[in-house]
Amino acid sequence: RACAVHLAKRINASIAQEFDIGPIRERISASVGICVADGVRFAPKELVNRADRALYKVKETSRGGCYFHDDILVAEEFARQRREAAVQSSTRNGSLTLAFQPIFDLNELQCRGGEALVRWAGAVPKELSPIELVQIAEDTGAISEIGRWVLEESLRVASGWAPDTTIAVNISPSQLGKGVFCEQVGQALTRHGVPGERLELEITEQVLLKNQDRVIEELLSLQSQGVRIVLDDFGSGFASLSYLQKFPFNKLKIDRSVVADPSPYAPSKAIMTTIANLVNELGMNSTAEGVESREKLMEVKAAGCDFAQGFYLAKPVSAGEFREAETYQTNVA
Ligand code: C2E
Ligand code: CA
Ligand code: CA
Repeated sequence: RACAVHLAKRINASIAQEFDIGPIRERISASVGICVADGVRFAPKELVNRADRALYKVKETSRGGCYFHDDILVAEEFARQRREAAVQSSTRNGSLTLAFQPIFDLNELQCRGGEALVRWAGAVPKELSPIELVQIAEDTGAISEIGRWVLEESLRVASGWAPDTTIAVNISPSQLGKGVFCEQVGQALTRHGVPGERLELEITEQVLLKNQDRVIEELLSLQSQGVRIVLDDFGSGFASLSYLQKFPFNKLKIDRSVVADPSPYAPSKAIMTTIANLVNELGMNSTAEGVESREKLMEVKAAGCDFAQGFYLAKPVSAGEFREAETYQTNVA
């Protein structure tokens, strides 16, 4: 180990020089990840992989230093593998459940639908956020199975709701573009006796980056079953107006970063009014998400948005609690 550290220091010292780039003087540094084979038999590729992971650890903690792929990394690796295995078997082990967040019609301030949000209910790990869960599911390929479970469970729960209450389901990029999704949706709708008109599929612009023609075809085929397509998180990424020309959306969900508007410069009201008008002109609907106060509620209503969702109106609740919220007309106005 001492030898490796010595070598790492020499590498660092020889790289750490100052360079003049025009008027700017830059200093570069190197980070070194080390894995010592130390009598243990690693395949060369594994040795390099471990050194690489140690390198990422240096970059995370102290740039310009060096780090061994030692016991800490092994423990992290073990925990990661356990998390991945838990996610991969989650639909079979009852480790998932759904929460439903009410979505309100801004004219009557009445709950018109619910968004299904996946929740981790497994014992190990104790906690896993929906974002982490979906990310691991994407990375390991478990997303197809989990996505299918979410769809089935959402429709099963929604089949017990009032016949005009909609159910919104989040769809991951890898669920679309493979040619099997429309059939899955059709079968699930039939199985649970829910008409397609009650289902909204929320997709993000990530879905639209690859296989555009195939995705458009799938979206149109879903719409022919009555299903509505919602562009989620609008305004948070790079989705441009050309997306609205190219893809057949029924609804736009204005991202909570636009709605919350933390910066004193961002003209959130003007942006929301413009989006709501545009959406209206295009014959679509808009939902403002992340409404956290009465003022915001009034603001998004005045901007002309059709629907709103947020902690001020209602937090995500269990399926049982949603039944109560469903008939709930908000008295917040
Ligand atoms: P999303 O689709 O944008 O879902 C809305 C998120 O905003 C939810 O977080 C919800 O709890 C949160 N939220 C609702 N109202 C408010 C508010 O007033 N203020 C703030 N600050 N947040 C609010 P959650 O449940 O943690 O989900 C996070 C993300 O995880 C979702 O973002 C979605 O991208 C993903 N996700 C959740 N469930 C699923 C799923 O079943 N499938 C897929 N593919 N992704 C899912
Ligand atoms: Ca969503
Ligand atoms: Ca969203």
